[in-house]
Amino acid sequence: MAKLDTFKSANEMIEARRPEQPVIGFRPHAAGQAARWFLENFQGDVAYAYKANSNVFLLGALYGAGIRHFDVASLPELEDAKTIPDVQFHFMHPVKSRHAIRRAFSLGCRSFSLDSEDELAKILHETKGAKDLVLWVRIAVPAKNSRVPLERKFGITGTKAARLLVKTRQVAKELGITFHVGSQTVTPDAYGSALEEVGRLIVKAGVLVNRIDVGGGFPSRYTNEQPTPLVEFMRVIHDGVDRLPVADGCRIMCEPGRALVAEAESLVVRVDARRGNDLFINDGSYGMLFDAAHLGFVFPVRLVGRTVPEPNVLKPFELWGPTCDSIDHMKGPFLLPDAIREGDYIEIGNTGAYARAIAGRFNGYGEYDEVIFQDPPMYSMYGTQLRSGAAA
Ligand SMILES: *Cc1c(COP(=O)(O)O)cnc(C)c1O
Repeated sequence: MAKLDTFKSANEMIEARRPEQPVIGFRPHAAGQAARWFLENFQGDVAYAYKANSNVFLLGALYGAGIRHFDVASLPELEDAKTIPDVQFHFMHPVKSRHAIRRAFSLGCRSFSLDSEDELAKILHETKGAKDLVLWVRIAVPAKNSRVPLERKFGITGTKAARLLVKTRQVAKELGITFHVGSQTVTPDAYGSALEEVGRLIVKAGVLVNRIDVGGGFPSRYTNEQPTPLVEFMRVIHDGVDRLPVADGCRIMCEPGRALVAEAESLVVRVDARRGNDLFINDGSYGMLFDAAHLGFVFPVRLVGRTVPEPNVLKPFELWGPTCDSIDHMKGPFLLPDAIREGDYIEIGNTGAYARAIAGRFNGYGEYDEVIFQDPPMYSMYGTQLRSGAAA
């Protein structure tokens, strides 16, 4: 594994390098802090949702902090992660190919989710009726205050869900119920109402449930979001689980992706042109800024590598990516010094979740340098809330 160069901050890196390519600044301490927070405050297994960012250094930081469960959603993810020692994999995509089930099983995976009787039959057939399976029935729950609702694609409800629970109970060593309230859910009420629905389904089906998985969805901080503190999410979840009609030994799990890794990376870009309040930068929606372009996320930004004379007046800017495509546009508003000009560098914070995973090579872009930054993330859900230089 190559070693990454370390800098105190994006400022120091820009002064030393003035890089041609966009730079991913990785903050291993931020991933470690988030992971430790979840491990200390969640009363169950913390399974990292692998798809949010599978960079090897980041995985190392999470592992180092104590993460030993991984939620994988595809065979390539499982193949990629299988060399990590002493971890449990949960294959939580409710629709898997037969080959993927067979191969996952042969790699030692015993934990699978499903949301239909067809999928149950598939799993049983491809694992040859294994007696040691943990099977999670994925139920659909309404999204509330989620920026990325997931409710339409997966999950079963009502009488069908009760019937599937009964059928799954007959073949599972451990029966679980799982849901996902939608990514970047900024208030905890969706978890509360989802757990109430879980309770109603357990009663309706009359089954003994061994495990509850509250999924992912925990928020990160962006400029246009003030999520409820994560302790409140934990309180709502633990209260909700306490009220469930399950046996005392019922084990709970969560699957945070974004919340564990968003703060662990920044992206440093260069301004290649300024036209009024439009800045043309060297990464965009086909790179690491998909969420800024398509989901309206306003990542925190700050000018780095140069100080501007006082008074430093901040103005709202829109950003345009480097490709020829006009949807390569991040509307913001991104608050930056009015003095910003061509050749300046901008640190875009909290890009650790999904950005790197989604970035493609359209138009010849999508190559990044990678370094380590030692300073705190621009915004944090853990500890000090607002960092200097980040606009509120
Ligand atoms: C994507 C995903 C997660 C992680 O979601 P975040 O919003 O990033 O926390 C967890 N569980 C499942 C099943 C997922 O598909």
